[in-house]
Amino acid sequence: MGQKIQVVEDNELNLKLFCDLLRAHGYETEAVRDGREALERARAFLPDMVVMDIQMPHISGLELIEQMKADEGLAPIPIMAVTAYAAKGDEERIRDAGAEGYVSKPISVLKFVEEVRALLALAETRAAKPPAPETEEAAAPAGEAASEEGEAEASPPSHPDESQDP
Ligand code: MN
Repeated sequence: MGQKIQVVEDNELNLKLFCDLLRAHGYETEAVRDGREALERARAFLPDMVVMDIQMPHISGLELIEQMKADEGLAPIPIMAVTAYAAKGDEERIRDAGAEGYVSKPISVLKFVEEVRALLALAETRAAKPPAPETEEAAAPAGEAASEEGEAEASPPSHPDESQDP
């Protein structure tokens, strides 16, 4: 396949596990142990997707996700966050930061690989169809697979103006 996956993970055992697993599935991997190098290395390696640990020294994966999504060149690269100690609301925070995927530790190998495949498919879609310029008039793409990007659809109930009886 030859698709490239950058793995950002400070824990050596997890790093090896993720990279071994990905290579066993035919992907090329780049291991990044220090989160502070993640953006620079991503610019050089140009991964098709990133596996991002959240709990890291110096800089958290959450911050890195935000930085990558704020970077024009890196923003389209799908990010799969991997986190232990997932507390209530963690997944939502991670997705709000811009991560396209989320897997909790200890990982299920099946779930991990499924999520990787889903994000690589997303990367291909984005590569084939560059994002349209940000105009409000851009039509919503028809027939796009339903995405699960949060359910923040809080629209306040609208009350029509009181109409006065004549
Ligand atoms: Mn860690």
